[in-house]
Amino acid sequence: MKVPFMSLEHVQNELDGDLRNAFERVYKSSHYVVGNEVSAFEEEFAEYCGRKYAAGCNSGLDALMLPLKALGIGTGDEVIVPSNTYIATALAVSYTGAVPVFVEPDIRTYNIDPGKIEEKITEKTKALMIVHLYGQPCNMDAIIQIAEKYNIKIIEDCAQAHGAEYKGKKTGSFGYAAGFSFYPGKNLGAFGDAGAVISDDENLVNKIKALRNYGSDYKYHHIYKGYNTRLDEIQAAILRVKLPHLDHMNEYRADIAKKYFKGITNPIIQKPFVIDNVKPVWHIYAIRCNRRADLELYLKDNGIETIKHYPVPIHLQGAYRELNLKEGSLPVAEEISRTELSIPMFYGMTDEQVYYVIDKLNQFR
Ligand SMILES: *Cc1c(COP(=O)(O)O)cnc(C)c1O
Repeated sequence: MKVPFMSLEHVQNELDGDLRNAFERVYKSSHYVVGNEVSAFEEEFAEYCGRKYAAGCNSGLDALMLPLKALGIGTGDEVIVPSNTYIATALAVSYTGAVPVFVEPDIRTYNIDPGKIEEKITEKTKALMIVHLYGQPCNMDAIIQIAEKYNIKIIEDCAQAHGAEYKGKKTGSFGYAAGFSFYPGKNLGAFGDAGAVISDDENLVNKIKALRNYGSDYKYHHIYKGYNTRLDEIQAAILRVKLPHLDHMNEYRADIAKKYFKGITNPIIQKPFVIDNVKPVWHIYAIRCNRRADLELYLKDNGIETIKHYPVPIHLQGAYRELNLKEGSLPVAEEISRTELSIPMFYGMTDEQVYYVIDKLNQFR
């Protein structure tokens, strides 16, 4: 049997008519960049997340960079980020001129360890960018307590956590602002690159709307040295079709996760750990195994596609050699990068596929 790591086939088949209509609507309007579809999506998405305002932009990376820029964070500043995340989290900080300061994750949850944040705070620390990695909400009570104690703003990287909840509240509604990616493979994905920032601060969101459009608040009047990171009408229209189905698609993933938790019993495979009072959205089901290379090859030979998230931690990437962080400096992130393997997880994955993956994992010796 062949089991892909992920597939968009099911979503697209189910929503085929609506997606085509959305496409047709934009096509006929001849208005392709930031228009009615974008404003409508911003409203609908902010409401979904329990926030007042949203600003669409070109990518998740920009959705993380823009709030930092809008807050005036730049050269000479530091922003705390987890050491175990996708490189975009750190790049968003670097693009402003600030320096990303890595905090190790909890090895069980893979998310930033609140107990290790305080020791990294200096007088230069301007923001705390946390990531709800793999769709698992961070321990927000502990993080908020630290942010309040030091008066540091929290920015949430929600690129993998659309619709996830911590104590009944959606991720993205805890920090000062949150950035989302709608890259096609995310839980809510467009037909190309797209992103959005959400916040309750109208001034911040208005500033971001100017920054995304060459710093212009009024046509050909530029109050900031801005960017071109606008959201396309096509992408917004597609996202508007998918948003009402997000909860259902997330439930579907949660059901797969439930079967994985129950079914995978091989003692050499470590399953993810979920903290109390959260609802993860299972962007990724991350297992760990000391013999990852063997496991990866074995699954591949059995037709099961897997991905490593991520094979090289950020501090050991060539792009960040300037930080001079040697191997061994962030051992937990390094351990995860050595042992983590993401197994198939997508809306429309059949029971037959799920149980096949479980059986193969249990038969691995
Ligand atoms: C995907 C992702 C991003 C970046 O989103 P893009 O839309 O690809 O720019 C940022 N952070 C995390 C954790 C991601 O998974």
